Amino acid sequence: MSAIEVIEPATAEVMESIPRAGAEEVDAAVAAAKAAFPAWRAVDPADRAAIMRSLADELERRSEDLSRLEARNAGKPIGDARGEIGMVVETYRYYSAAPERLLGQTIPVAGGVDMTFREPLGVVGLIVPWNFPLVIASWKCAPALAAGNTIVLKPAELTPLTALELEKIALDAGLPEGVLNVVAGPGSVCGKRLVEHPDVAKIAFTGSTEVGRGIAEGAAGTIKRVTLELGGKSANVVFADADLAAAAAAAPSAVFGNSGQDCCARSRILVEREAMDDFMTELEKAVRAMKVGDPLDEDTAMGPLISADQLETVGSFVPDDAPVAFRGEAPEGPGYWFPPTVLAPMTNDDRAAREEIFGPVACVIPFSGEEEAIRLANDTIYGLSGSVWTENGARAIRVVRALDTGVLSVNSNSSVRVSTPFGGFKQSGVGRELGPDALDHYTDVKNVYFAT
Ligand code: NAD
Repeated sequence: MSAIEVIEPATAEVMESIPRAGAEEVDAAVAAAKAAFPAWRAVDPADRAAIMRSLADELERRSEDLSRLEARNAGKPIGDARGEIGMVVETYRYYSAAPERLLGQTIPVAGGVDMTFREPLGVVGLIVPWNFPLVIASWKCAPALAAGNTIVLKPAELTPLTALELEKIALDAGLPEGVLNVVAGPGSVCGKRLVEHPDVAKIAFTGSTEVGRGIAEGAAGTIKRVTLELGGKSANVVFADADLAAAAAAAPSAVFGNSGQDCCARSRILVEREAMDDFMTELEKAVRAMKVGDPLDEDTAMGPLISADQLETVGSFVPDDAPVAFRGEAPEGPGYWFPPTVLAPMTNDDRAAREEIFGPVACVIPFSGEEEAIRLANDTIYGLSGSVWTENGARAIRVVRALDTGVLSVNSNSSVRVSTPFGGFKQSGVGRELGPDALDHYTDVKNVYFAT
């Protein structure tokens, strides 16, 4: 095993060095998960629920340490990291209610009784990105465990630290050995092996659309079940009849939150033409007020980008002749800093409006009327999230129904809740996480006819 040098993005210095897993370690983890599966699926539902609650309690007890570790490793503001670890705890608590509620059906048939069972799949491979490391892992681990599966979790190489803590915490909380295994290594080796492994029944993946496409192909070889949570280029549609001050005040965090490294980033701000001037005046105030700096400073609203590579990629979307309307502040190096940047006016055909930037760059695109707003918002290969701002309730309903996207909010930019389904249309993915829907993706339905 060689080493992974884990970098702290705010300083560009090595934070920790950990062993780099390869295909052999993946095989060992899958074997451990396979061996643990029969006993874990057989744990009485109430006992499995109790173990999951104990895991939530243990994570809560360790939440400040985990928040600081995540803030440093992912370069995110400490307040955001605390919110994420809070959601991790909440997610295990929410799904701890599931083992006792995985209900089947009885179906009227001739000559007997027909009933269905929701059976666990077996060993599930969970592959997660670096932008929301532990929280996205929890969206997968919690329903998978609740349904009686065992797990091999592969965190991103850039941010493996909280997942490695989770593996230890799970044992402390009473999860049997082998139920939750973590392998920290490269996607091209460890992720690929998980996808192709004959003993892995399902892959739940969050990451880029490009890698997701390869995973769907790789999983076809063994007909694995696949959930894909992929990229986005979401529209924040602001009509002239909206509360413009509220829409403008909320827009920066919806695209610059997590330094724009958010699959739900509303990176295309569509503004009705007659409201452009007023909206831009308010937006500029809000962007300039964002404090960019040390993730561990309690007042910080935005930290650095994750890596030098990401800094270079994001910079390529703002060439010297880009129409920069205004920018916020950013510290000088060391660290991977990029200021929140607003490009305007843009068209939906510009590269920055078409590709997922995954950095703090917003495009403001003017439109005229409802029809054009819908056409522009839908003119993308993605369909993950989005917002509609208007004081006209009927219009809000018309527009959200017309948008080809999985997660929408009206007069708000919030996308994700533990108790509601999350996932994308079009090339933003397949399947749903969170809420009641996630359990469908970690079970198969078995139908049994019993002749009487
Ligand atoms: P990525 O696709 O490069 O990597 C994601 C994970 O896949 C990592 O763990 C990586 O090691 C692994 N991986 C890479 N190559 C692989 C391969 N060939 N086989 C198997 N696994 C492989 O994505 P990223 O750069 O870590 O994250 C950013 C992307 O994730 C963005 O596109 C973003 O939109 C997306 N994302 C989506 C959601 C969502 O819920 N829809 C949430 C967060 C991030």
